[in-house]
Amino acid sequence: MGDRMQEIITEYFKMLTAINSPSGEEGALATKLAPILRDRGFSLREDSLGNIIASKGEGEPLLLCAHLDTVESTEGLATKYEGDYIKSDGSTILGADDKAGIAIILATLDTLDCQAPQELLFSVQEERGMVGSKALRSEDLRAKWGLVLDAAEPVGAVINQAPGEADLEILIRGQGAHAAANPQDGIDAIRLAAGFIHQLPPHSISEGSSFNIGVIQGGMATNTICPRVRLLGEIRSFEDAKRREIAKELESMLQSTLEGSGGSYDFHCWESYPSYLVDVDHGLIKLLERTSVPLEIEVDVHSRFAGSDANILNNLGLAVVNLGVGVQGNHSSDERVSISAMVKMATWLKAILGDWCHGRP
Ligand SMILES: [Zn+2]
Repeated sequence: MGDRMQEIITEYFKMLTAINSPSGEEGALATKLAPILRDRGFSLREDSLGNIIASKGEGEPLLLCAHLDTVESTEGLATKYEGDYIKSDGSTILGADDKAGIAIILATLDTLDCQAPQELLFSVQEERGMVGSKALRSEDLRAKWGLVLDAAEPVGAVINQAPGEADLEILIRGQGAHAAANPQDGIDAIRLAAGFIHQLPPHSISEGSSFNIGVIQGGMATNTICPRVRLLGEIRSFEDAKRREIAKELESMLQSTLEGSGGSYDFHCWESYPSYLVDVDHGLIKLLERTSVPLEIEVDVHSRFAGSDANILNNLGLAVVNLGVGVQGNHSSDERVSISAMVKMATWLKAILGDWCHGRP
């Protein structure tokens, strides 16, 4: 079984990674997948963004989800095999995030002994902040429980909790003037921004929360006092109320920095996606634990400080966890994936769907 599964998975992985699918350009990959799914008895819907929802069978399905996009282009990808690992030649990312997840799902479907009701979601633009899954409504999905195959962690990792994120845009306005002829007429927005940045608390602002200012834009010429600086950032926290609290703190810090300077500001903070938590006693976790035992997979239920489609799906009312698929170094040219890990995950997924043949536990 292991050898056959390995053959099927590596074939799928090769096929998937041969198609370039950066965020927003998933069309060719979706076109490749559609007939494969139809041949396996799925009925397909593709929404206006390009998300594919496929379903098969009567009764409550278990949702399996992976994203079609890669964080950047893999144009010209040359894959290399190194022992148990597949990697790129270093000139592009491999795109195993999340083509490993798709390959695992396809290989599992090909080797099932019993056909449980299934629902598949292949989302688009996940790497742009789950743009694809955010467009879904709860009535788009029949499943109540689901598995996202998208964690760059070893197989057995079950991400049952992740923080939500809020985005920040801060505009600091001063007054432009000639830097040499009449500097006294200027209010330097760069210096105002520096005063604010200098006071910022640490990135790990408190237990379970983080924030970052990651972009600074401003200035036009060395002989001009900068009239405007734009800062972009993010706040993450397991607690949704905590993000608003941190935003308030940052705004009052900015306000006091600018006091008496003649400068002004706009402070925008908006929710990007909510946090989620699937309780360790939830039936979904129990299902994963039960089916892992005969395969000697060690289940490690934990939180991870990164968003995924699981955040969005939980917010739609499903119970969804994100599973490790054996990818390492994702979002870098050192990205690689373990073949044996993908085989292990597909074998486990097959056992999970086998259990689901008796209905939701
Ligand atoms: Zn991913």
